[in-house]
Amino acid sequence: MVPETPASDAGLRRVELRSDTFTMPTPAMLRAMTAARLGDDTYGEDPTVRELELLAARTLGKGDGCFMPSGTMANLASILTHCPRGTKVVVGAESDIYVYEAGGASVCGGVVFEPVRNAPDGTMALADIEAAFPEDPEDPQFALPSLLCLENPQNRCGGRVLPLDHLAQVAELARRRGVPVHLDGARIFNAALSSGVPASEIARHADSVQFCLSKGLSAPVGSMVVGDAGFIDGVRRVRKMLGGGMRQVGVLAAAGLVALEEMVDRLADDHVSARALAAGLALLPGVTVEPVETNMVFFRVAHPTLTQDKFLSLCSAEGVHLAELGHGRIRAVTHAGVSDGDVERALAVFRRILAPVAAQT
Ligand SMILES: *Cc1c(COP(=O)(O)O)cnc(C)c1O
Repeated sequence: MVPETPASDAGLRRVELRSDTFTMPTPAMLRAMTAARLGDDTYGEDPTVRELELLAARTLGKGDGCFMPSGTMANLASILTHCPRGTKVVVGAESDIYVYEAGGASVCGGVVFEPVRNAPDGTMALADIEAAFPEDPEDPQFALPSLLCLENPQNRCGGRVLPLDHLAQVAELARRRGVPVHLDGARIFNAALSSGVPASEIARHADSVQFCLSKGLSAPVGSMVVGDAGFIDGVRRVRKMLGGGMRQVGVLAAAGLVALEEMVDRLADDHVSARALAAGLALLPGVTVEPVETNMVFFRVAHPTLTQDKFLSLCSAEGVHLAELGHGRIRAVTHAGVSDGDVERALAVFRRILAPVAAQT
């Protein structure tokens, strides 16, 4: 059985650019899933899960790892483990944790979000982070920060990659202020590729890291949290509390192992396709494209008669699926299910839909 992306409504081959979460498990993953050695993971007895956790920890240079059902739960369990109730977590105002995770840390953990502005390149000004720390920590009016979160790549800033020296500066600030750093590295291997370093060189600047197996790495389900062994014990307890303790989940971890072993290097292809897509888009009338550093292309379409919504629905009627993602920009994400031919076809569709602008100007 090889799962296939369904054809579009028009019966055309679907070009799915909404997200790399649409990737399907590979044949090697499906074989590994049926052959996996299993046990009850809540008893810590699933050998395939354990193998994945140790591989993830080793890959990112941390002491231990914990398999999670989703990136959202991975971030939430990490925050709840780091942060006592009534303290603050400093987050990017454009971060997934702040914008897209249903306020989980506040709802479940009584943790207050302190959002800090992200510049267009994803970075946060050190002075703005400093401002989140009260001048007088003894003053009982103030909730005190207990964690600083970073996101790399920064999705809503265009999949931008944080410079390594920025990571080092933020980590130094956190150390000076006595708080740990959690990195939402949902696509950390894309960031590592773009920065030209192993993922452990990025993870080095954080005490804990979450990354997704289920995005560009093509596993059907799952995320990892890595950190030191004591921290991971805490995460495992919170995961159970949140209802994320799983049983013979080696069936999913087996796909995660293939993701880490076989799917990391090919992310380079996605970066090449994203650049090709951006270069083609930049030639079209009325299109403004943002800088591309990973597998994401953010752009805007200005047209005398078409709204962006109409543009998106015309594209999807032709089997090319895209979506708006933040501040009125359109996001296109390349992944293992998007071939060079798909990029060409998407560009041909965009060209046809936008053609009347050229005729009128
Ligand atoms: C996708 C994503 C998450 C959440 O992962 P889910 O598995 O969808 O819950 C968290 N952070 C970032 C930056 C993401 O892109």
